[in-house]
Amino acid sequence: MIIIMLGAPASGKGSVAEIVSEKLNIPAISSGDIFRKHITEKTEIGLKLNEYVTKGELVPDSIVIEMLKERLSEEDAKDGAILDGFIRTIPQAEAFDKMLEETGNKINIVVNLEVPEQEILERVTNRRICKKCKAVYNTVLSPSKVEGICDKCGGELYQRDDDTLEKAKNRLNVYYKETAPLTEYYKNKGLLYSTVLSKSINRMKDEVAKDVVAELGK
Ligand code: AMP
Repeated sequence: MIIIMLGAPASGKGSVAEIVSEKLNIPAISSGDIFRKHITEKTEIGLKLNEYVTKGELVPDSIVIEMLKERLSEEDAKDGAILDGFIRTIPQAEAFDKMLEETGNKINIVVNLEVPEQEILERVTNRRICKKCKAVYNTVLSPSKVEGICDKCGGELYQRDDDTLEKAKNRLNVYYKETAPLTEYYKNKGLLYSTVLSKSINRMKDEVAKDVVAELGK
């Protein structure tokens, strides 16, 4: 089973993916997490990735696809995966379709999270992440019990370099230009499930995740 998560930066893709992952027992795979790990560990590919990620620009498609292929070949993904952020351009979607054709796998659903733009900018700048276990918090919507400390593992919380307002605006522009057209691409294939995630209507990650699982069962 393959689930693709689409949505603007900090729209909640990772949070929804984690819940769905637990419910379905398939791994949630985040391209950003994999890239940041390489950057922190200063691997050869990490040095290359850093040039793009720090500026909020997209990593070249060929690198992304190669890394996705590698990750999906790991044992825990043998029954499928939830891709959080991995498909972000039309060429990536096309290359992924080809990859699936070769492996005989298929996409079950593409979840597109619709979040009002003002909320996105708030979500990005209020986001904090645990250095150790990568748990995600929001200083307003879902703060940790002790400021700066992860509830789950006691690790230190930090703000991503690219989660500043200025960089977030650039990432949002990149999203509108490169990623948003993917909704049409997947709609035409009958795979798109668009759904609102917004505090304004009190529809947050748990409810969205529940609906994604229900949609898969239809
Ligand atoms: P994220 O954690 O999903 O916000 O991703 C952080 C950064 O990693 C993005 O701003 C891009 O620089 C890079 N990145 C992640 N996924 C992709 C992708 N599928 N294609 C290109 N660049 C990506």
